[in-house]
Amino acid sequence: MVADSTQGENQENTVYYCGVHPTELIKYYCPNHDTLHCGDCAASSSCIMNKLCSISREIRNNAEFKELQSNIAQLMKSADALESKVNTIKESAVKQGSRHLDQVERLEQGLIEKIKAHSASLKDAINIATSEAKYQLDIVIDMCTDIKSSGEQLSNDLNDCNGNDSEVIAFVKAKPVLQSKTDELNAAGKRANLKQYRFKKCVDLDTMLQTTKSFRSYEVENEEMQSSQSTGRPDIQSTNIHQHTEATGYYIYMSP
Ligand SMILES: [Zn+2]
Ligand SMILES: [Zn+2]
Repeated sequence: MVADSTQGENQENTVYYCGVHPTELIKYYCPNHDTLHCGDCAASSSCIMNKLCSISREIRNNAEFKELQSNIAQLMKSADALESKVNTIKESAVKQGSRHLDQVERLEQGLIEKIKAHSASLKDAINIATSEAKYQLDIVIDMCTDIKSSGEQLSNDLNDCNGNDSEVIAFVKAKPVLQSKTDELNAAGKRANLKQYRFKKCVDLDTMLQTTKSFRSYEVENEEMQSSQSTGRPDIQSTNIHQHTEATGYYIYMSP
């Protein structure tokens, strides 16, 4: 995995500078704090420090050095294991995401179908009401036509009279016909009153559409587990790695 490029064949060319004094080379080790320092640090510190050259020869045989190496190897092994585990988790997270998107898509389609069905029945009701209104008004129009033609007939009958008995007959006959046609016209006027329609609100639906949660909400299922891992870092305690080095505060520069 991540190779420590400060070690290896270029070791002779690698130089280490003090974090506190960036122009000074690291030359001292404080065994008490497990930290590295430059000459300036050593001069101003109360710690008893070892010169690196005095301990570098035997350090490879030191048990702690060996333990450190083994812990580094263990760290890499654990990181590798976590990485492949995470790759699997990543893959299933992506799959789960697209499964959930499909569910939303199906939900959306289902709701659209239901809305379409409701709209269709509303449209049917509107079409039926409109047809009924047209039918009813056509009857009234027919009645008007009939009344007008009766009126025309009466008018002609009266105009055609030529001063004989027929004038009297037409006059007498016309009165009841006029009355009956007037009644018919009044009835026709009443039939022209249509049923009035309006949309009745569905309060439940309006309330439902105002709250986002009534559709569906996407929630964390294992909230408790998430908050216990709030650091976002893998639990390296369980991988049996001891963190030996404290914050040492030194920079590493590679010579080209
Ligand atoms: Zn220093
Ligand atoms: Zn110290």
